[in-house]
Amino acid sequence: MRDNEQESQVVIDPIQIAETAESIAALAGLSAGAFAYAAMWPASNLFGPALRAPRNPPASALPQLALTFDDGPNPAWTPQLLDILARHEIRATFFLIGQFAAIQSKLVQRMHTAGHLIANHTWTHPNLAITSAARTREELSSTTEEIQQIIGAPIRYFRPPYGGRRPSTLQIARELGLEPVLWNAITPDWSAKSPEPVAARMQKIITRNQTRGYATNLVLHDGGQASPTENRSASIAAAAQLIEHYKPTHRFVTLDEWQSTL
Ligand SMILES: [Zn+2]
Repeated sequence: MRDNEQESQVVIDPIQIAETAESIAALAGLSAGAFAYAAMWPASNLFGPALRAPRNPPASALPQLALTFDDGPNPAWTPQLLDILARHEIRATFFLIGQFAAIQSKLVQRMHTAGHLIANHTWTHPNLAITSAARTREELSSTTEEIQQIIGAPIRYFRPPYGGRRPSTLQIARELGLEPVLWNAITPDWSAKSPEPVAARMQKIITRNQTRGYATNLVLHDGGQASPTENRSASIAAAAQLIEHYKPTHRFVTLDEWQSTL
């Protein structure tokens, strides 16, 4: 399993991606391979900086873990996740799909009222490495406007679907007041049949990040771009297992606590 695995459910025609990647790469003076790396690899800064995870504080303080959840809100699973987080008094970060937020405004309000950080994951979940600048701007601004209207608070963070981006993507995001966010821990929880392999894989990545001195910005999915009610039982149960495991030894943070580390 590769840790840099793209985010869930790429459904775009691969030929279209290859052709578009090639033409954009040519414009940018990069080879197609270099473009693919810069556009999709979570650790690449070639197309501009994005928040992943900072170095952990000195050993006298607890190491840090940011739980982030993508592709919701999901009325079937997000409420259960919110119950788990509330029981443990843990705040998480939610990257919402705008068109799902629009039909689940009460659930979005509940997330915000519970103290979770609400962020932008585009309106329809396209791969922004290959969408036009105009569409990128529309995807981001409509989502920000919708969520801000629901929660009455500013939206400051954005995660590109699949991690897909090119230089104009991050530039447009910053123009709209959005800080681009990627991750440094992901595993295909969206296709998992049970929580154990997801939690076990995440533990390995967290240990590795920590050995290298870094906190962990961990992605799980409480929703799915294909449907607003996608089954996410394994992901939610894995989140519960990870919380139980790390609560005694780690501090759970929301991404705004890391803003000063950029
Ligand atoms: Zn996503």
